[in-house]
Amino acid sequence: MSEPVLTISDLHVDYGTGDDAVHALRAIDLTLHRGEVLGLAGESGSGKSTLAYAVTRLLSPPGVITGGDVHYHRRDGEKVDILSLSAPELRAFRWAELSIVFQGAMNSLNPVHTVRSQLTDVLKAHRPEMKRAERTDRAKELLALVGISADRLGAYPHQLSGGMRQRVMIAMALALEPEIVIMDEPTTALDVVMQRQILRQLVKLREQLGFSVVFITHDISLLIEFSDRIAIMYGGRIVEEAGAADIYRDARHPYSDGLLHSFPALHGPRRELAGIPGSPPHLAAMPAGCAFHPRCPRAFDPCASRVPMLTRPAGETAEPRTVACWLHHAAPTGVR
Ligand code: ADP
Ligand code: MG
Repeated sequence: MSEPVLTISDLHVDYGTGDDAVHALRAIDLTLHRGEVLGLAGESGSGKSTLAYAVTRLLSPPGVITGGDVHYHRRDGEKVDILSLSAPELRAFRWAELSIVFQGAMNSLNPVHTVRSQLTDVLKAHRPEMKRAERTDRAKELLALVGISADRLGAYPHQLSGGMRQRVMIAMALALEPEIVIMDEPTTALDVVMQRQILRQLVKLREQLGFSVVFITHDISLLIEFSDRIAIMYGGRIVEEAGAADIYRDARHPYSDGLLHSFPALHGPRRELAGIPGSPPHLAAMPAGCAFHPRCPRAFDPCASRVPMLTRPAGETAEPRTVACWLHHAAPTGVR
């Protein structure tokens, strides 16, 4: 596997402090490799957005990072400790090295400014040396990248379809050629055909430009098609991580399996759609042991009392994959 571009280790996030604190992320370990599309899936409330906000330092109170490290690895080998960047360092870092597109981002375009001025504003702020004409040329180039013709430069957001506005947001995110693009449910508000079209374009751009993507969605079938690796979250933890094809063929965690049967797949063998019975836990009342055990069809002895760690399944030697489930680990010897 190629070198890492973003490493998250033992990251913990709480909402609130003291007795009122709830744990939204627990012991998150995750690596994004250069040039890869990493998919992050999980039902609503599993902590996906919290993770995106924490690693980009956009988490706002009552959210607090209570432990862990997040490092960005520059191409020249320099390691940047994201959690200790100062405010000015962060401003230079965002957009230029790491950019993020949020859910409903298409509605965050400024309604009174044209597409041109919104694209060139990003360039103006970070590349003051660029001339006006150069900025306009770059804006045209960016629109072309996401499949929008240059004659839409003068358009206002309301003159564009939802899919186009979302593509403008992606163009903005790519404006400064960042190494990492994080997309948090960027296409959820769009229809399925449009979602796939945008993702296909993104994957093509990634091949052209060489950036890495963290793509977040609750719809795992999208990830199976478009990502290289997939990490699955439940109750603030990563419960399984493997290559996209491996998850599809052979999900190890019963929760991953449940998710796979919750969405229709466009390709590959048909699966029966079953969904997962019950609902995700509340942070303030997280079940003991494996948080999924009350909903798990295969729960047994240790699951209700002991938290399984995310490690390689017993006896696994091939593809790198990890799973946090007692079905795949030897019974624990002590309470963790
Ligand atoms: P996802 O993106 O996977 O749907 P989130 O990261 O948005 O999940 O939320 C994870 C958990 O954190 C949820 O239980 C949610 O209720 C809680 N949470 C999110 N934001 C806040 C907040 N500002 N204050 C308190 N709890 C929050
Ligand atoms: Mg979210």
